Amino acid sequence: MNKESIYGLTFDQLAAWLMEYGHKKSRASQVWDWLYRKRVMHFSEMLDVNQECLQLLADHFALQSLTEHLRQESADGTIKFLFKLNDDNLIETVLMRHKFGLAVCVTTQVGCNIGCSFCASGLLTKKRDLSSGEIVEQIMKVQLHLDAAKQAQSVSRVVVMGIGEPFDNYKNLVDTIMIIKNHKGLAIAEKRITVSTSGLADKIYEFTDNNLQVNLAISLHAPTNELRTQIMKINRAFPIEKVMQAVDYYLEKTNRRITLEYILLKDLNDRKEHALQLAALIGDKRPLTNVNLIPYNQVDEHNQYQRSEHESMRAFYDTLKKQGINCSIRVEHGADIGAACGQLRSKQIKVLNYEGQESFSVIDPCEVHKG
Ligand code: SF4
Repeated sequence: MNKESIYGLTFDQLAAWLMEYGHKKSRASQVWDWLYRKRVMHFSEMLDVNQECLQLLADHFALQSLTEHLRQESADGTIKFLFKLNDDNLIETVLMRHKFGLAVCVTTQVGCNIGCSFCASGLLTKKRDLSSGEIVEQIMKVQLHLDAAKQAQSVSRVVVMGIGEPFDNYKNLVDTIMIIKNHKGLAIAEKRITVSTSGLADKIYEFTDNNLQVNLAISLHAPTNELRTQIMKINRAFPIEKVMQAVDYYLEKTNRRITLEYILLKDLNDRKEHALQLAALIGDKRPLTNVNLIPYNQVDEHNQYQRSEHESMRAFYDTLKKQGINCSIRVEHGADIGAACGQLRSKQIKVLNYEGQESFSVIDPCEVHKG
């Protein structure tokens, strides 16, 4: 049986576990120092931890539950990693280089049931949730890659925007956030952690009440229910007004800003009338809302969608600006390696599919998220 990843334990969980076995709480600080600062690959390298404790850790936990299966590097420095899990499933993780530091985009599920009609990942039905250990280890693997390349840089941002709907794996998401923001470990600043959801309104309330103080982004992609349902089936379960009510709650309780993500699809949601509808929808939330306009990355499987023309994107942006909306057009990373969510995994699995090892099926996400 596969052992649980030690990266999946919050500091308090590890301390409590060690104390159950008669160790002092301070032992957890030592272990975390070896894990996250010195970044050892084997328990036996934790030199100041006594032998009995090392054996205990090795008997119960794994230090490596992901192996690198494939890596693609873009001319702009973006790196896509395809990791193989212990059960042979594949997941994607992306390292992006920004002016302000290194960001890692992590995956939270093997496949996704939300079924957004523009998304490569949505074609591959969810097989299972990732454990918090498997999510945290993605960041560690990227950091170890940087260490090995002697780049002397640390991951300073984490975006939970990879394959999967993070709020559909809620407990493991929360544990992940608690682990990566802890100053004894990776110490990723709360303001540099962003969770992106397709808009599971009930979970937005729970997330707000958990007061994790990290950023929230919502994939809106359309200003009306009719259009949004066409693009994202999840809108049947959580229509725009329910999502925006949850956004109101989030803004009021957290006093943080929110990001609305909007993929621009040619002749579908990129006209001036859509920009005006979006501005009206945001209404008096303008001061606390950023709209992130995303150029669409063409996916072979979704040839009904095309990327908006440059002029249309510009006109959409200008209309929002004139309406007093804070907005930006997302800088693309790794366009030459297909950095759209799930593209690398989807391509790899298609190769496997031809060998009869994996099959495609898409189910209605509303069946999963109703209620
Ligand atoms: S965009 Fe995100 S939520 Fe939608 S299908 Fe793709 S992975 Fe799932």
